[in-house]
Amino acid sequence: MQRAAPQQFDRVLSSMCTKPHPAAREAAERFLATNPGDPATYQAVAAQEEDALASLGEITGLDEPHGYIASGGTEANIQAIRAARNLVRDDNPNVVAPESIHFSFQKAADVLGVELRIVPVDGDYRADTEAVREAVDDHTILVAGVAGTTEFGRVDPIPELTDIAHDAGALMHVDAAWGGFILPFTDHEWSFAHAPVDSMTIDPHKYGQAVVPAGGLLFRNKEVLDALAVDTPYLESASQASLTGTRSGAGVASAAAAMRELWPDGYRETYERQQANANWFYNELVARGYDAVEPELPLVAARLPEPEFDSLRDLGWRISRTASGELRVVCMPHVTRESLRAFLADLDDIARGPARN
Ligand SMILES: *Cc1c(COP(=O)(O)O)cnc(C)c1O
Repeated sequence: MQRAAPQQFDRVLSSMCTKPHPAAREAAERFLATNPGDPATYQAVAAQEEDALASLGEITGLDEPHGYIASGGTEANIQAIRAARNLVRDDNPNVVAPESIHFSFQKAADVLGVELRIVPVDGDYRADTEAVREAVDDHTILVAGVAGTTEFGRVDPIPELTDIAHDAGALMHVDAAWGGFILPFTDHEWSFAHAPVDSMTIDPHKYGQAVVPAGGLLFRNKEVLDALAVDTPYLESASQASLTGTRSGAGVASAAAAMRELWPDGYRETYERQQANANWFYNELVARGYDAVEPELPLVAARLPEPEFDSLRDLGWRISRTASGELRVVCMPHVTRESLRAFLADLDDIARGPARN
């Protein structure tokens, strides 16, 4: 009998996950049967988590990071809101976020019973600060901004949003799940070093090249993390801040290994190569007359007629659309110039039509 095999990565153009770095894969295998949810029993993986946290702190400009390696950006976002809710204790709490916010915020609002106030973005897909200012009130517990949006790769004005949040007595959260391993090499103001941001989501299992599952949740102040802790009577450890109980030591060890291996030079090289690929791909699309959104980070969105989109999918290209219908190509570390060329060649064939094929 043949063993089942996962997908190849050569035609995967819209995913935010990628091939793990070999060092991350090796560490994941070594730590498969460990549980960082019980650090007093599983001390070796607990040390790996400390290591991973210290690296995330360096990457995001935080000297003394508090937090943990979560199952992904979804858990980290839920937990950031939960921490704010537990700390602020309002009887009718709301969270204000731009419409570019990731759909995990809807899950968070739903499970936590918090109102999610979505405000418009500006003409360049960034949070409209005036709209955010109007939406916050005495019951706002948290304002969220995105550093590297899922659909267009845009960075919200984090320092301005942080001022608005703090003026309203709310916490400021930055969702850098996708952008966190790219942004250190750009001029954007997005991190703990650029503004008194309270919490951040940053996913090692995306641009960090760790194995799935490895998300990151960081807090500037320990008291905010502590607002998540519950007592854990039957474990060797006394309390637990994570949302899941037993969790993946493979994810934790792989995140630590990937960052040891790649921060900063490996990540910088990856960013530079993939940004060049995104810029090249954008120019190729524009030269063909397609309406494309200029990439600020390695992510290109473009209007593509439905028949072309469907034909490309039929050819095995793994592509998706934004909510407003654009094709989105995420230049993750596995996406090569060669595969983008092959994609454009297929697009040209399709656009030329069957008559001349
Ligand atoms: C991917 C992503 C998430 C969700 O992360 P998961 O790891 O898929 O749970 C949240 N926010 C942003 C900006 C993302 O790109």
